[in-house]
Amino acid sequence: MLIQPFESMTIKCGMCHNTFAIEPVDRQTVDYIQAMLLNGRAASMPD
Ligand SMILES: [Zn+2]
Repeated sequence: MLIQPFESMTIKCGMCHNTFAIEPVDRQTVDYIQAMLLNGRAASMPD
């Protein structure tokens, strides 16, 4: 299955709740953003 190119979008940081504008990105950048979001979510959850 092909990954479709992302449209311009915004993401909200899970830690500081800042909103970031994201331009169309490649697969590697998508992985990075997802990892960053997961890190923020993990950091905001009690262990
Ligand atoms: Zn943040």
